[in-house]
Amino acid sequence: MLFDIDGTLLHGRPEGHTRAMVDAMARVWSVPVAPDDVWAVEPAGRTDREIARLVLRRQGVDDADIDRGTAEWMALAVQLHDDLHHQHPAPVAAPDADAVAGALLDAGAEVALLTGNLEQIGRTKVAAAGLGHRFGPGGGFGSDAEVRADLVGIARGRAARAHDDHDVVVVGDTPRDIAAARAAGVRVVAVTTGAHDARALADADHVVPGLTAALAVLQA
Ligand SMILES: [Mg+2]
Repeated sequence: MLFDIDGTLLHGRPEGHTRAMVDAMARVWSVPVAPDDVWAVEPAGRTDREIARLVLRRQGVDDADIDRGTAEWMALAVQLHDDLHHQHPAPVAAPDADAVAGALLDAGAEVALLTGNLEQIGRTKVAAAGLGHRFGPGGGFGSDAEVRADLVGIARGRAARAHDDHDVVVVGDTPRDIAAARAAGVRVVAVTTGAHDARALADADHVVPGLTAALAVLQA
């Protein structure tokens, strides 16, 4: 079971995360960017590297310069997030996230994160929301690849054991989560707790109002 973070496990805008991303972009590429530049590229469901590329292109940075600075930017964004995330309202855990992850683990499922967040930022957010103990090593992150669909295979490669395609389920809140699961040939359950309603998520195998309902589908 591969869980998205923002809009799925955590609710609320990731203000500190966004601040760290733009401050790191400003330093690495010397561009005058602000959090609104991130919101302007509709970041939900995108990987952090994809978001950075879209923001930087709008600033006139070419792809070769973006590629050259990406490793430095990722490291700096993680460092800035560590320094400043306490100064911003933190996303909070979905009220049922801990219970649902716990129930899946108790049932013998393997549970991991599948998110566009840079890994250390995503893990810090999940830990700050009290869910860190549910998600061990493994998973797929925006620091691993720019294309979200690639994260599914990366996460499967890190799994403790091999799983058939049909037994791998992405749980996410955006059409991009659904597209990533489809491209990777695995199932997807969409929750309407993020920025998208049931109509926008209709291509998922199941659309449910939240994680408790997702659990019921997964256990059926
Ligand atoms: Mg999301």
